[in-house]
Amino acid sequence: STFEDLKLNENLLKGIYDMGFSKPSKIQAKALPLLLKTPPQNMIGQSQSGTGKTAAFVLTMLSRIDYDLKSLQALCLAPSRELARQIMVEVLKMAKYTKVMTAEAIRESNIKSHTTGKSRIEEFAEAQLVVGTPGTVYDLFRKRIINKNTVKIFVLDEADNMLDQQALGDQSIKIKNMMPKDCQIVLFSATYSKDVRSFAERFAPNANQFSL
Ligand code: AMP
Repeated sequence: STFEDLKLNENLLKGIYDMGFSKPSKIQAKALPLLLKTPPQNMIGQSQSGTGKTAAFVLTMLSRIDYDLKSLQALCLAPSRELARQIMVEVLKMAKYTKVMTAEAIRESNIKSHTTGKSRIEEFAEAQLVVGTPGTVYDLFRKRIINKNTVKIFVLDEADNMLDQQALGDQSIKIKNMMPKDCQIVLFSATYSKDVRSFAERFAPNANQFSL
């Protein structure tokens, strides 16, 4: 299959071709039609890193955003700052030809954003897509710095690593419980032990499951 077959928006296609992706990876060909379905469905995916799973969920997030609506619509949680940052790097590349407003929700001391130079509060108020770690995201919701009411898609990456620290798993579930009723919930994990499975099924109820 091709990226055109997946009916991705023109601007996203330009972004991924710029990155040198010529065709969908195996997991992208399998996951994207499920992820992009209307009405949206919850999804649990088992796949290792290196398979192109990040692009699968990032393209889904970028496809779900209404760019005229200036509020948070896509939220992604990662178990570490490093991973959150890595995901954001992919977002910014794929979104190069879109006007998406983004913010990183990771604990850091600087008040100004390193990407836009805006104040963090300003940046969060305008963000349509946020990637972050559970503690920081939870804080931002609690302080009403970001608004949860318009989130359409909520992604949790590396669920197995998330569960290595109980606090991260607990905070993720708390955030999930704050999401609007019709929000699409997507979870990825490299491994799928009994613990991960029970967490995943609680996190993304009635999900379509696939593995690669
Ligand atoms: P991930 O599994 O998300 O960690 O991605 C592994 C690597 O594959 C990343 O460096 C991506 O930029 C790259 N990648 C993802 N999708 C594709 C694709 N369709 N074609 C070529 N490279 C890709």
